[in-house]
Amino acid sequence: MFTHYRTQGFILKKTDQGETDRVFTVFTSDFGKLELLAKAVRKIKSKLRAGLEIFYLSEIEFIQGKAYKTLTDAILVDNFKNLRKSLGKLAVAYKISEVFDNLVRGQEADEKLWQLLNENFKILNNPRIPPAKYQVIYHYFLWNLLSILGYKPELYRCSSCQKKLTPENNFFNLKEGGLLCGQCKGKVKSGRPIELNVIKIIRIILKRDWTMLEKLKIENSDLKSLSTISSHYLSEVLRQTQ
Ligand SMILES: [Zn+2]
Repeated sequence: MFTHYRTQGFILKKTDQGETDRVFTVFTSDFGKLELLAKAVRKIKSKLRAGLEIFYLSEIEFIQGKAYKTLTDAILVDNFKNLRKSLGKLAVAYKISEVFDNLVRGQEADEKLWQLLNENFKILNNPRIPPAKYQVIYHYFLWNLLSILGYKPELYRCSSCQKKLTPENNFFNLKEGGLLCGQCKGKVKSGRPIELNVIKIIRIILKRDWTMLEKLKIENSDLKSLSTISSHYLSEVLRQTQ
């Protein structure tokens, strides 16, 4: 007899397999990230269908076979109805899932990652969030995810000489540990310029205080700079982990 495992999980990705099967990437509260096979789930009559869709939080049951973990039950807990109504929010949910899937590898439970997904799906599902904040949610998720995974940057002092930063002439260089002053940037010869406004936004992001971040007025130009720094940060981490 197979042991049946039950847990809750966020469904982050689905890939069709064969004629009627589908493989789901699920981040579970008890087992971390799992790839789970749902047999015949694409058939109309499948009893698994109701609980298996991308960006669902579901209670699932699976068995460990020789090659695959196979789903035997899936009951919907939250389908994040409001998130699904907006293409803008869905786009953020896809980005969040993709970056999470690329960076989180281990099959082990992680309470911090679980809470981070929970929090961000709840924020995305909140009907009061204005479209101007959608991208901010992505950055909020990304920087906190990378920090949990061990890549929290130094944002208060120069990572190299430890001097307090001045309001101008600062650079971001993850290899050196985070921010660099102008002098140290001159020595290591690499780093992206970063404005004080953007540094302040990232500090608030890493305080993990969404209520404060939601109220913060962010200029478009600052959001653009933040996006540039975020993708630089992400690609540097991906390069290091490859
Ligand atoms: Zn320095």
